[in-house]
Amino acid sequence: MAGYDVIVIGLGGMGSAAAAHLAARGQRVLGLERFGPAHDRGSSHGGSRITRQSYFEDPAYVPLLLRAYELWDQLAADSGIDVLTRTGGIFFGPPGSVTVAGSLRASREWGLPHEVLDAAEIRRRFPTLTPGPDEIGLHETAAGFARPERTVAAHLELAGRRGAELRCFEPVVDWTTTADGGVRVRSVAGEYTAGRLVVCPGAWAPVLLADLGLPCVVERQVMYWFQPTGGVGPYAPDRHPVYIHEAADGTQVYGFPALDGPDGGAKVAFFRRGTRCTPETLDRQVGAEEVAVIAEHLAGVLPTLPGRFLTAATCMYTTTPDHHFVIAVHPGAPQVSVACGFSGHGFKFVPVVGEILADLATEGATAHPIDLFDPRRPALEATV
Ligand SMILES: Cc1cc2nc3c(=O)[nH]c(=O)nc-3n(C[C@H](O)[C@H](O)[C@H](O)COP(=O)(O)OP(=O)(O)OC[C@H]3O[C@@H](n4cnc5c(N)ncnc54)[C@H](O)[C@@H]3O)c2cc1C
Repeated sequence: MAGYDVIVIGLGGMGSAAAAHLAARGQRVLGLERFGPAHDRGSSHGGSRITRQSYFEDPAYVPLLLRAYELWDQLAADSGIDVLTRTGGIFFGPPGSVTVAGSLRASREWGLPHEVLDAAEIRRRFPTLTPGPDEIGLHETAAGFARPERTVAAHLELAGRRGAELRCFEPVVDWTTTADGGVRVRSVAGEYTAGRLVVCPGAWAPVLLADLGLPCVVERQVMYWFQPTGGVGPYAPDRHPVYIHEAADGTQVYGFPALDGPDGGAKVAFFRRGTRCTPETLDRQVGAEEVAVIAEHLAGVLPTLPGRFLTAATCMYTTTPDHHFVIAVHPGAPQVSVACGFSGHGFKFVPVVGEILADLATEGATAHPIDLFDPRRPALEATV
């Protein structure tokens, strides 16, 4: 008989949530993680992640977000950990930009509460922002930020409390299916068998899910923290929203209030302006010229933000050609479920992805709409 009901490979954002949901359903869970709990070597660190519902990427994500918000609140209640804060969010730029037009489309399609603000109103309500005269914005009160390290820690804590066995610093070397319809997983420390497998490898997807042949690109992304000119007062989380601005050339920059007091500064980053890497070749050093580029860009959008540069950190996106996720039962192995390719926008979905993976592992299917995330969709056909 298999040793465990389910093995979860990778206990980052998605895997820790899957482990918690599976353990809550009474499954005997083994979780295996290459690094420590809530580490900074993958994609789920850096203190903050934007959450929002008016989803410009595609309105098809909205039902998942509505469920995610319920589960975020449940996670906070069950763990006693403050994982998500609603600050409101403003998504602004030219009226026809993806950020504005796409957010509006999702909001209207799903009847989400929102307001459309012209440039003068944006400046009046949010004085740190300086949109161009023809820019407009969508304001959404449900938006805010999640705390990635606390979220992973909360899910691991709940998984452990519910009986999951969690082994950190134990990289998986490979996995195979077995003749009896189960799985065998080999780590640096031993070999384990189970009835089902859930693979959540983040930037290691090209290695652990090589058999799927997904055209995922791993990218180095940089997060910057600045001490605003005049201090963090106007950037306090009870006054300042999360924001995304899209420039006329399509460049998107996003940021947060000052979350960790006067010394922590406020975090800001470019969305999807990365350079190709692997987890092994990722350059963690951030050059002065990179800081200068974002500071110059911010001068036109939030001129007081780049007062004094504090620090920067790198993180990885694992990006699919159409920027949609991969979440499915493995096409070649019904006892294996996979979640990867989150393309730089997965964190706000963490709790609902955990629920979906628990559905797939225990039932072989989910009632959540995940057709968009099929690994066999045409957009993922390997392009030579
Ligand atoms: C700079 C940056 C900003 C972002 N901003 C946002 C945002 O504002 N909003 C948003 O929604 N999303 C955002 N994202 C995206 C989001 O953070 C990711 O989509 C999400 O964290 C991915 O989670 P994951 O579980 O797939 O990856 P990870 O959290 O990296 O987890 C994968 C885990 O697998 C482990 N692993 C890999 N190989 C093995 C092995 N062989 N054996 C055992 N364990 C293994 C790794 O160590 C890791 O812990 C951002 C990402 C970055 C990098």
